[in-house]
Amino acid sequence: MAAATVDGSALAGRALAAAGARHMFGVVGIPVTSLASRAAAAGVRFLAFRNEQSAGYAAAAYGFLTGTPGLLLTVSGPGCVHGLAGVSHATANAWPLLMVSGSCDQADAGRGDFQELDQIAATKPFAKFAVKATTIADIPRLVFQALAAATSGRPGGCYLDIPSDVLHQTIPESEAADLIASAAAESAASNPSPPKQKSLDEGIEKAADLLRRAERPLVVIGKGAAYARAEEAIQKLVDTTGIPFLPTPMGKGVVPDSHPLSATAARSLAIGQCDVALVVGARLNWLLHFGEPPKWSKDVKFILVDVCEEEIELRKPHVGIVGDAKRVVELINREIKDNPFCLARSHPWVEAITKKAKDNVLKMEAQLAKDVVPFNFMTPLRIIRDAILAEGSPAPVVVSEGANTMDVGRAVLVQNEPRTRLDAGTWGTMGVGLGYCIAAAVAEPERLVVAVEGDSGFGFSAMEVETLVRYQLPVVVIVFNNNGVYGGDRRGPDEITGPYKDDPAPTSFVPAAGYDKMMEAFGGKGYLVKTPDELKSALSESFRARKPAVINCIIDPYAGAESGRMQHKN
Ligand code: ADP
Repeated sequence: MAAATVDGSALAGRALAAAGARHMFGVVGIPVTSLASRAAAAGVRFLAFRNEQSAGYAAAAYGFLTGTPGLLLTVSGPGCVHGLAGVSHATANAWPLLMVSGSCDQADAGRGDFQELDQIAATKPFAKFAVKATTIADIPRLVFQALAAATSGRPGGCYLDIPSDVLHQTIPESEAADLIASAAAESAASNPSPPKQKSLDEGIEKAADLLRRAERPLVVIGKGAAYARAEEAIQKLVDTTGIPFLPTPMGKGVVPDSHPLSATAARSLAIGQCDVALVVGARLNWLLHFGEPPKWSKDVKFILVDVCEEEIELRKPHVGIVGDAKRVVELINREIKDNPFCLARSHPWVEAITKKAKDNVLKMEAQLAKDVVPFNFMTPLRIIRDAILAEGSPAPVVVSEGANTMDVGRAVLVQNEPRTRLDAGTWGTMGVGLGYCIAAAVAEPERLVVAVEGDSGFGFSAMEVETLVRYQLPVVVIVFNNNGVYGGDRRGPDEITGPYKDDPAPTSFVPAAGYDKMMEAFGGKGYLVKTPDELKSALSESFRARKPAVINCIIDPYAGAESGRMQHKN
């Protein structure tokens, strides 16, 4: 009897499982169909999408939520190109992801083979590590290496190319097991370079000292801190020192939004007047106004904590600490414990922030309290916020994208638990929502997933509602339907001229599109809502059901602003 053999597809599936992978997102086809089912047989659940782009966004979000690389599987050529959306988005957001693509036969490369592309060259600009298995024996080692690369240092997208001929090669069963075992051992033995302890100690001392002497200190919490699971350490720092904190959009929830020292509603005051800012896991990029005047004071001293040394070198902060956010903040806490300090709630800085925040919250609540029909953005967002809060703990994961929908939603929706907000992120990527929903539902099965989507953002990947139904995921998607991008056709008469003046505006969609019907076409639950009572009832029913649902929420097309809060850039 011939000895049992293992082919490249099965070996890749087993190696992924042995390396700890639990989920993989993607689209099957030549030459990776068998890889998907072999991986599933080895214990890696495969979530089959309708396009690679949203599967890539799912893998990116999965990396953020779990701290382990999100896996994306694509076919060769065009599949790999579509998958680049996910790889680049992961790298831009510093989230770990590994794209595995099949590629054309090595013997036919260069001769115009089916779906031929130099996929290593194509992925390199977006991936921190891109590698090709040229023979079956390479697979286990490269799987472990690529997964480790995705999480090491600053997390990001990585790429593993497995040509069609390699997927079809076979080796004896015993050799496959040995290859996987030695790849695992090699990976376990290769420790990342040890941190430079002396400079770390110095940085911690300086940071604690600067915070202690500051008159108007602020803690800025980025999504890198959420990724690092630094929530306990940062909450302790805030509680023991009384320093106000400001989260970035996806840093929301690391310390609960409901915490009395939250400076979210006093953002301009907090960043405009703080004299020392401890920035943990956030880049001083456009989202934080580059850390420069006029938004920030010109004299502010930054203490930056980031796992990436280049980031610290780029920003040239007063104190830079290279390290994991959780560990560094724990060390700062320890340093402070030996010589404690605490700003009283009556401290002028704390009082100024809390008073401003309270005033702004009261103003916003006055707006929110009104039931405006046809819906503006505020009224439905208030109803959604209250429904989400009523869920208690574990809090739902909130997925948010769109211009006004995301901007207004960021202010209104409340995050009291870490990693419960997923949005367009560092790149302002639209079309991420449905992929995020699927990732969140499988990564956090105890949580409900609630997506608050502009109709444009939803439309990028709307076909994935079928994926939601197919896997029966507990996801409720609320589409803010205002007939198009920024609210459909808002052209003035001077813009409606020329030979194509009868064409629809570039910003407009079919008015009052039946997104709820689209969901029903696949057997999910659809709701069409135009009033507060209709929305409340749809939310209560769909949250209770924990089944796929789309709530088509009709919004006044004249509500909201063009480009949301980014008008100056359009
Ligand atoms: P935000 O969008 O919330 O402002 P950014 O994506 O700009 O956040 O920044 C996140 C930062 O966190 C990146 O510079 C990244 O290098 C850093 N980072 C990632 N993982 C860690 C970690 N474990 N500890 C500290 N910093 C981290």
